[in-house]
Amino acid sequence: MKYLSSRDQTIKLSASQAIIKGLADDGGLFVPEYFPKLELEELKDMDYKDIAVEILSMYFTNFSKESLRDIVHRAYVGKFIEGIVPVKEVGDVYFLELYHGPTLAFKDMALAILPHLLKEALSLEGIDKEVVILTATSGDTGKAALEGFAGVENTRIVVFYPEKGVSQIQKLQMISQEGDNTLVVGIHGNFDNAQTGVKEIFNDESLKRILEEEGYLLSSANSINIGRLIPQIVYYVHAYVELLRMEEIGLGEGINIVVPTGNFGNILAAYYGMKMGLPINKLICASNENNVLTDFFNTGIYDRRRELILTSSPSMDILISSNLERLIYDLSGGNSQLVMDKMKELSQAGYYKVDLDLSKFYAHFSSEEEVDKTIKEVFDHYNYLIDTHTAVAYDVYQKYKQGSKDNTKTIIASTASPFKFGSAVAKAIGLKLEVKDEFTILKELARRANLELPKAISQLREKEILHKKNCYKDEMKAILMDYLKAGEKDV
Ligand SMILES: *Cc1c(COP(=O)(O)O)cnc(C)c1O
Repeated sequence: MKYLSSRDQTIKLSASQAIIKGLADDGGLFVPEYFPKLELEELKDMDYKDIAVEILSMYFTNFSKESLRDIVHRAYVGKFIEGIVPVKEVGDVYFLELYHGPTLAFKDMALAILPHLLKEALSLEGIDKEVVILTATSGDTGKAALEGFAGVENTRIVVFYPEKGVSQIQKLQMISQEGDNTLVVGIHGNFDNAQTGVKEIFNDESLKRILEEEGYLLSSANSINIGRLIPQIVYYVHAYVELLRMEEIGLGEGINIVVPTGNFGNILAAYYGMKMGLPINKLICASNENNVLTDFFNTGIYDRRRELILTSSPSMDILISSNLERLIYDLSGGNSQLVMDKMKELSQAGYYKVDLDLSKFYAHFSSEEEVDKTIKEVFDHYNYLIDTHTAVAYDVYQKYKQGSKDNTKTIIASTASPFKFGSAVAKAIGLKLEVKDEFTILKELARRANLELPKAISQLREKEILHKKNCYKDEMKAILMDYLKAGEKDV
């Protein structure tokens, strides 16, 4: 299996090369040259890990099956709950709980495995360098990447976060991060400052040369890496197999999948599953008030020329959904020239129009009021607590169902633990919040919902603060260099 650039099919790399590079040299995204076919019948007796090994070995063909088995084991065993991704029937839908990993959100599914894939890819390519992952974070991705990379040999992870721009819990999660190969630094400034600083480091050719000479390779844990995308196909296939086992569906019966969408990675993985033969009736793309994708699927016009709105589902506050490029590539029959043209229009004019068959998708969005109302309704009716992102998906599904009268069995991708966005959830179900302390709110929320507070949160209070460094944006390069030279955590 080779990986082609979505903007130039003459660029062809192996899986390991594509994972190391992340992004093609022409700015395109790596796409698989074909879709392998699933044998659902054969997967029926397999657990999550076995299904993962099967699917990964279809895509990462230059990795040995033994190494993939080892990688899957390292990624998911002990770090996730038993069963990894439970499917819960609630009312007329099945929630796919993707948040039982170390940081309580679905990004763990991919970031737990990427470091191990990357390490094996380097070994396959005979690259004898230490990879330095550099990330600016607004909260969630940074912690998930830290958890994924901590303790992984031949890698280091450096995370910059806006010192006053993340929640109390998010900050505690990051600055208590263990692992000799981790560094977390607060920036005096906002997320954009941190992001710009990281981009400047990536664009500094002389700095990169110095690092290479010292035996380091700079990389990012970006969400467009195929090493993050392909492992996300697994949980949709696993969920289908679970529904078969529960005799909720018969073999070959179509299902709907609803995904709260931001960068279009999670829903694209479901689409890739469909291309492999997973029977899917509708893919339902749910957005918050940043509804660029709703407009796109309903008109064929992608238009980013609007203000970004800050919502209670911040992981979906996005105007440019990078992974959509892969969908356009596929729907256009692999027309890389068209992809190139459209992406140029997007960056220059701020919009583009395509004439493609988008009918496999249904798209809608939720207002902030609808999100709150949905969390309360689901809790009141079913005693089931969902977070703000998952509420967007559930609300959009209700809109779809009302309009279509479609009774197909439906899976909702549940992307974060309600405790991860606990204050918003507590407010939505009507908890009186006299106290401002997040821990107290979360405890009360757990009590009210009769749930146990996840250990990842309850243990935070006792954790030692290991990363105390703060800096200004123009000090980031020096801090990085000092850290790499010292080879120690505290610089
Ligand atoms: C990242 C994220 C999303 C959006 O997923 P995409 O793959 O970017 O579309 C949704 N919900 C949560 C909780 C997330 O962290």
